[in-house]
Order: sequence, then C-alpha cells, then structure tokens
Amino acid sequence: MNIHEYQAKEILSSYGIPIPRGRVALTSDQVERAAKMMGGRCVVKAQIYAGGRGKAGGVKLIHYPEQAQEYGKELFGRNLVTSQTGPEGLKVRRILVEEAVEIAREFYLSITLDRESSRYVLIASAEGGMDIEEVAHKSPEKILTLIIDPLGGLRPYQARKIALELGLFGTVCEDCVELIMNLYRVCQEKDCSLVEINPLVVTKAGWLMAMDAKITFDDNAVYRHREYPDMMDYSQLDPLEINAGKYDLAYIKLTGSIGCLVNGAGLAMATLDVLKECGGEPANFLDVGGGATREKVAEAFRIILQDKDVKGIFVNIFGGIMRCDVIAHGIIEAAGEVHCTLPIVVRMDGSKVEEGKQLLSESGLNVQVGVNLGDAAARIVQMLG
Ligand code: ADP
Ligand code: MG
Repeated sequence: MNIHEYQAKEILSSYGIPIPRGRVALTSDQVERAAKMMGGRCVVKAQIYAGGRGKAGGVKLIHYPEQAQEYGKELFGRNLVTSQTGPEGLKVRRILVEEAVEIAREFYLSITLDRESSRYVLIASAEGGMDIEEVAHKSPEKILTLIIDPLGGLRPYQARKIALELGLFGTVCEDCVELIMNLYRVCQEKDCSLVEINPLVVTKAGWLMAMDAKITFDDNAVYRHREYPDMMDYSQLDPLEINAGKYDLAYIKLTGSIGCLVNGAGLAMATLDVLKECGGEPANFLDVGGGATREKVAEAFRIILQDKDVKGIFVNIFGGIMRCDVIAHGIIEAAGEVHCTLPIVVRMDGSKVEEGKQLLSESGLNVQVGVNLGDAAARIVQMLG
C-alpha cells in the first residue's frame, strides 16, 4: 500500500527526522494561501503515487503567491505523466506547498526488503537526487548497501560507517546516524516494505533534512494499523483494482490483450508463461482464489470485461475446492449481462468438469473449450491473430 509524500513526511517527522515546513492544499486558492504563509518563495509539489515528478514538471520553485496559484491550477487540471506513471499519468488531487530549502548536497537513503536474503537492506549513496536510477545503472559502485540482521537489528556503528562513507563528518555525521537509526524504527514499527528518502539533503545552513519521502506499507500488515485504510487516496488507484479489492480478488494489470481468469497464484504464473510461450501477451490476470462463489467469478469476469485492452479472454481453472460448473455459471452470468462478443477460450479440469463444459457450450457465448492447457493457450493466441 502506497501513501503520499506529505503523509510519509509526517511519519518521518514523528520519529524525529527533520522535514521542511509545509502545507497540503486541495485547491489552487489554498496553494496561493500556503505560498503566502511561506513568504512567497516556496516549492510546489504535486502529490501522486509515483516518483520522477521533478523531471516531469511536478515540482517547481515558486517566487510569489500568484505564481503558486497559477501553477496549482495547471497541476490540478491535468494528469501528471512521469517516467513511473505510464502514458496516462495520474490525477493530481493534492499539492504540497513547502518552504524552499537552500540545498548544499543531496544523498540517497532507503531501507527496503531484499528478497534474496529475506532481510531489510539499507541502501545509501552520496549521489542522491533525481538521477539516482542512472547512478545505479552506470556506476553501481557508488551505491552502498548493508543487509540488516533481524535479530541484532541495525547497530549505531553500522549507521556511522554508512554516514562516514557518505562523506559526512562532525555533528552532521552524528545527526545522520540518529536519522538512520530512526528510519529503521519507522520501517519496523510501521511495517514498511520501503522507506525512501531521496534526496536526503544537507542544507546550506548545515542541517540534515528529508526533502522527499516515499513509504510503502506491507499489504499483509495493514490490518495491524487502524489508521492505514483512511490514508489511502483512491484517486491514485486503477478503479478496476479498487473493485477487485472489494471482492477480495487479486487483479494485476499487464500490457497485452488477453484477459486471464484463473484460480490460484501458481496457476496464474503458469498461465502467463504458457501464453507467452505461444506468443500471446496477457492484458491482466485475475485470480479468484481457491473457493470462489458464482458471484465472485461473475465479478471477476466483469472486471476483466471493463479492461479496454482486453480483446479476448482466457479462463484457466482447476476445479479442486472449486467446481467447474460454478465457474461456468459465473462466466455466463457476467458475459450475458454485457452481451460479451469477445472470444473466450476455457481450459477446465477437475470436479464437475463435464457439467461446466456443457453449460458453456450451450450458453450461446463465443466460447471454445481447449483439450488441455497448451491447446487452449494456442487457440486464444491464434484467435487474436
Ligand atoms: P521526485 O523524486 O518525484 O522527482 P522530489 O520531491 O525528490 O520529487 O523533488 C525533486 C527535486 O526538487 C529534489 O531532488 C530537490 O532537489 C528539489 N526539491 C524538492 N523539495 C524541495 C524543497 N522543499 N526545497 C528545495 N528544493 C526541493
Ligand atoms: Mg525524490
């Protein structure tokens, strides 16, 4: 689960990490008023669930309040497209107005989960800021990493080593040690899969400050934090994803043209692999889970049909706990409602498979049933040409 920069900064601040003074605005008038409060000169920052805003015109240094209002209007009026958003961009519904800080140096600092070691890893670089991806790509030796032992935790001497390697000394170095220790506490106590400060800056006045912040909460831990659901900004999510969430369906948007309805994550992975092997490109996959009801299958099918990229549908179900006739009823219900004419190829196996296949073939839908997984995948790919 993602949150906005201003929310992430509030959390960092509550752990003693210094952040710039700021205000969140919901209208361009509020942007202007906030700019006045900052004394005219300020930085206006679009709040979206994506980075790369600086390079895309979503972060701007402002010199007087009217300019802030004008820029606010412009941002609220369009989708912001950055290197991380995809071509459609994201709606700007909130703007952060911050004091303009005089920056001397920019660093990169984050803690995230390292899947290989199954541990938190601290990542830092003396070359932080908007080009960090390029630094990581071109000169990976400039990226410092430290895998954190979950039993011993992060030790101050380890944080100090990082701060020294970043080239900090004196009181700023000690401040950095404290900041790194606090960042680790945020990570653990807030159940984060990522906390990132890019850039962490040393100001011209010699203070350490988080100039940007990104926090991702572990979805599996959201239930432990009552305040998290209210922090969500639904305007930033794909409406289909929101719907899927309501019905407890796992929906993942991909870039191709074949909509995939499957049961079980393992089968979903196998389905994508086989489709790709046949030369097909999945538009999404929707996992209805183990014991789905007819209603749930129908909702899943509706979601797939609403995805405009879908030109054909591939259903791959193994009826174990779930019966194939239940799936067939769900598909027929949802497809019938919207008079779906898209080609559908079904691969089914398991309990009540004959009943399921018969229901589908008598349904009047544009549906074919594959002999096995390979055959079914090849058919849908062929039908979409
Ligand atoms: P993004 O990572 O999405 O590009 P950032 O919040 O990192 O957005 O902002 C981009 C750049 O703008 C930062 O690297 C920093 O140099 C500058 N910046 C951001 N906030 C401020 C601020 N309050 N004062 C001065 N400069 C800022
Ligand atoms: Mg940034």
